[in-house]
Amino acid sequence: MKVIDQIYINGSFVKPHGNQFMDLINPLNQEIFGKVALADEKDTQLAIQAAKTAFKSFSKTTVAERVSYLEKMHQAVSKRKQDLIDVMVYEFGGPVQFSTAVIQNGLDAIQASITALKDFKFVSTVGTSQVRMESLGVVGIITPWNASNMFIVSKLSSAIAAGCTVVIKPSEMSAMQTQIIAESLHEAGLPAGVFNILNGLGTVVGQELSTNKDVSKISFTGSTVVGKAIAVHAVETMKRVTLELGGKSAAILLDDVNFNEAIPLALFGGLMSGGQVCTAGTRILIPENRLEEVKQIIKETIPTMKVGNPSDQDTAIGPLVSKKQYLRVQEYIQLGIDEGAELVVGGLGQPEGMESGNFVKPTVFAGVTNDMRIAQEEIFGPVLVLITYKIEEEAIAIANDSIYGLAGYVFAKDVEKGREIAAQIDAGHISVNGLKHDPLAPFGGFKQSGIGREFGAFGMSAYLEPKTILV
Ligand code: NAP
Ligand code: MG
Repeated sequence: MKVIDQIYINGSFVKPHGNQFMDLINPLNQEIFGKVALADEKDTQLAIQAAKTAFKSFSKTTVAERVSYLEKMHQAVSKRKQDLIDVMVYEFGGPVQFSTAVIQNGLDAIQASITALKDFKFVSTVGTSQVRMESLGVVGIITPWNASNMFIVSKLSSAIAAGCTVVIKPSEMSAMQTQIIAESLHEAGLPAGVFNILNGLGTVVGQELSTNKDVSKISFTGSTVVGKAIAVHAVETMKRVTLELGGKSAAILLDDVNFNEAIPLALFGGLMSGGQVCTAGTRILIPENRLEEVKQIIKETIPTMKVGNPSDQDTAIGPLVSKKQYLRVQEYIQLGIDEGAELVVGGLGQPEGMESGNFVKPTVFAGVTNDMRIAQEEIFGPVLVLITYKIEEEAIAIANDSIYGLAGYVFAKDVEKGREIAAQIDAGHISVNGLKHDPLAPFGGFKQSGIGREFGAFGMSAYLEPKTILV
């Protein structure tokens, strides 16, 4: 039994004042393998005070000092890379290849913060005034379970680059990953109070962070529902917010692409990590006259994507993180059937022989119109919809007919044509011909997918406040 009974406040691992525990459950077999102690409001207030005290000196550090802290952080997290991958596979059920990529993205985000910090202009002249970019203050960082370490490390590195101090509340379902991150950050030797990490409930620790007057900003990644609640609380004390929320991204395949290559890529992008990815391209838009051909390719491709033990190198789809998510996804598959959509592959229930874990059959629906709930709502499971279009303008209109605007995908023979289509999609992050990632470029959503941008210089700016001095 693994017991995580400490939180990290003011440079030390300490027992929380909160006396509740939560079970840790293996998504592969439903076994309880450990428990985690949950912090309470009092612990949160102590952590905020530690961050507030540390802010006084940390906000005065030089660029060179902060670059050095970020380099130490990069080194310390790199040293635990394999542990982080192993634990993400075990605790979250993330396929090993996906988990490896996620942790590498986190490390790349630290590197991007270093690059951004070295180049950043903290003082400039605008008009006749001096404009100084100043550290915002204490930041509350609230993260979900699906790429826990990457979110913690990327948000923290932007905050450190900007001279802010933080209190981090990860998902308690990621407690083992959080423990390794806390240990490696402790080893990095940042000044006490610069970062504090509390396992605890969103409605307790998250709520205290969102309402406490000594917190200047919340950086949140998670669902749109919770993001809206945080924004409502935050406005009471005028906290700045960065919100990275849900998505229902479209992948548009133009008529001229090689469908034998593009469809498998689109399926991979929609189904990776069991669809528990905010940027998943869950609506696949294809020309109407290609429907039968596409259905055939999907029927041939899906069986080649292994659903299985996430620690196997060739597993594409592991179990979902929790029974709750499994049941939620089953409800959506039933909803698709009830809405009259046609099952191309997959369906209700578990794949044969995999009944002990939270496994879902990779499912693709055809006969879907964009007004159906399965085309509008984020499912966060391995469930995709195929929607047909007649002309490109219609494809763009369908892609944009969503409350979300996080990501998008365009597959085109002519890359410039792909870029042209991408420019017309109302979303923050659009890949042409594949799944692309650039740690220096801004990441975030249009519309109800969020507010603000993360990574690199854009991400760092969100932790700074401009001050104009006129003489
Ligand atoms: P969630 O339910 O919104 O929870 C996210 C975090 O917020 C958790 O740490 C949660 O704590 C906390 N929280 C819950 N209620 C809160 C409250 N009232 N005040 C403050 N904090 C609160 O999301 P999830 O189910 O963990 O993750 C899946 C969602 O995240 C999906 O919708 C997905 O699209 C989104 N996501 C977005 C991005 C992006 O970059 N845009 C990336 C990944 C995931 P508890 O765990 O204790 O509830
Ligand atoms: Mg939740």
